[in-house]
Amino acid sequence: MERSIYLDNSATTPLKKEVLDVMMPCLTSNFGNASSIYKTGRKAKTVLEAAREKVAKAIGAEPNEIYFTGSGSEADNWAIKGIAEAYAEKGKHIISTKIEHHAVLHTLEYLQKHGYNVTYLPVDSEGLISLNDLKNAIQEDTILITVMTANNEIGTIQPIEEIGRIAKEKKIIFHTDAVQAVGMMEIDVKAQNIDMLSLSAHKFGGPKGVGALYVRKGIKLPSYIHGGGQERNKRAGTENIASIVGLGAAIEIATDNLEEKTSKIRALRDKLISGIEENIPYVKLNGHREKRLAGNVNFSFEFIEGEALLLMLDLNGIEASSGSACTSGSLDPSHVLLAIGLPHEIAHGSLRLSVGDINTEEDVDYVLEKLPQIVQRLREMSPLYERVNK
Ligand SMILES: *Cc1c(COP(=O)(O)O)cnc(C)c1O
Repeated sequence: MERSIYLDNSATTPLKKEVLDVMMPCLTSNFGNASSIYKTGRKAKTVLEAAREKVAKAIGAEPNEIYFTGSGSEADNWAIKGIAEAYAEKGKHIISTKIEHHAVLHTLEYLQKHGYNVTYLPVDSEGLISLNDLKNAIQEDTILITVMTANNEIGTIQPIEEIGRIAKEKKIIFHTDAVQAVGMMEIDVKAQNIDMLSLSAHKFGGPKGVGALYVRKGIKLPSYIHGGGQERNKRAGTENIASIVGLGAAIEIATDNLEEKTSKIRALRDKLISGIEENIPYVKLNGHREKRLAGNVNFSFEFIEGEALLLMLDLNGIEASSGSACTSGSLDPSHVLLAIGLPHEIAHGSLRLSVGDINTEEDVDYVLEKLPQIVQRLREMSPLYERVNK
């Protein structure tokens, strides 16, 4: 029997049927340009602003604090480069962490080439930053703290509210990349002291190529794309109405009944974790056991290459992701796994299974049937494992 089990929901999620249904008319009959004053244009403008309200409501913001972007990466770039530019007179120091997504890390590296100083906070073995480290890193000229809400590889959730409180006390802007968090945990930008937040539709059942940046009222944010007056003069270009409407619908669905939905996902996650720990020797769960995204499972399997494991899983119809960054053309393991202190060879044998609302108990049972066999077969080919087992 040919099976296909998608367990890479942190990489992307399938577009929900209900979301496609509301997008479709925007691609056909309701094709107007939201800047036009006649009826077709006004209709586009109406659905655009309704989507903005949905995004705002989902995270506890005001609609005029939401800017649509072309992706989560763009939202991260805009937030960081924008603050760097607008507050350069106050200072050129930024605080972040070693485990951010590349959309943040590479943006910070770009700024370092342009005279900015960045402190990358270390994380402990479970992926948490220390609030004391954060306090100690703050300088007179610190203008921005950017710390992700939840990590995309190991799922660790940072103490966002406390980080925000520290930033607020010191009058430093706090940005968080919440791309993995939205739709998986409660987000309330006001209660959690968040000044700026990035999100992306395709991580919670929306279309690819659309995201949003929340910017608290009062923060100076320079224009990112110059041209027409769209997005209150800050991001020019005729709006991608269908995708934005899709984002609005997806975030509404994803955050509605959040606790009920995530508890189902969490149960599947926990079944995977305990099933792997009980049935496979020489494994290590990466990330924090409790402060963890509802759908995240990340394990290192000793004596195994993550790439080989992925290949074997794929042959068995299971789609997941590994911790080696072979995509970038380098054989270096993930910066996140190295930051939590894994030795190179263990980091290379890592596997991420990310559960989403599309997954079922049968999916998990199937993985727990196949994975131990695959790991065993791969280990039998490993000379190191042979030595250990003697
Ligand atoms: C996926 C992801 C991004 C990038 O979002 P895109 O919309 O794919 O550009 C940024 N940060 C995190 C944590 C992510 O998981």
